[in-house]
Amino acid sequence: MNLVLIILLFTAVFGLTGALLGFAAHYFKVEESPLATRLCAILPQTQCGQCGYAGCRQYAEAMAAGSAGIDLCIPGGQGTVDQLAALLDIPPVKAQDTGSERQCACIADNMCIGCGKCASSCPVDAISGGPRMIHTVLSSRCTACRLCLNTCPTGCIAMRTLEPLPEEWDYVYPRIRDQLEGRGQPDTWGTDNWRPEGS
Ligand code: SF4
Ligand code: SF4
Ligand code: SF4
Repeated sequence: MNLVLIILLFTAVFGLTGALLGFAAHYFKVEESPLATRLCAILPQTQCGQCGYAGCRQYAEAMAAGSAGIDLCIPGGQGTVDQLAALLDIPPVKAQDTGSERQCACIADNMCIGCGKCASSCPVDAISGGPRMIHTVLSSRCTACRLCLNTCPTGCIAMRTLEPLPEEWDYVYPRIRDQLEGRGQPDTWGTDNWRPEGS
């Protein structure tokens, strides 16, 4: 008899809880902006916060509400700005100039204790390493968001400037750049061709 009562009691409690949750879900539902959803789909989803918002969704909602410009997502670059402009049917603007220098987080391996806190904080999985092993940053993935800097208990992460890639060089001799990009055949690769005029 007691068992039947307990079952009935649990059934009543769970039924009431379910009804309350259903009521709350129906009447307190937050309507999502369809425009914000489409804007958000364009963003890189790294949740790095470089736009000044907590994440991509929050930035998309601000854009949909008209309170944020379309050029705030640094990792997205010009391609993202152009797509946002096309979706909003507004003239494209120039992506934020982050300078010609590319930066990347760097770990001093003689100080790393392998705790893994930096890797957990990186939104783009740019930090590699195992438990109690020296960690390292994959520069090709790092967006320079700096989120990992303050997570390290030994303070061994710092930002450093990367050497420019060949395609980023500001060539003094445009002919050589054109040759590298396949726009012309080199006459010769002799060093004489690299001398400035008049030298
Ligand atoms: S900067 Fe770009 S990728 Fe980072 S949170 Fe903002 S919208 Fe997302
Ligand atoms: S700065 Fe740090 S957290 Fe940000 S992308 Fe680079 S490694 Fe990851
Ligand atoms: S938080 Fe610092 S000590 Fe810990 S794994 Fe990362 S770099 Fe190494």
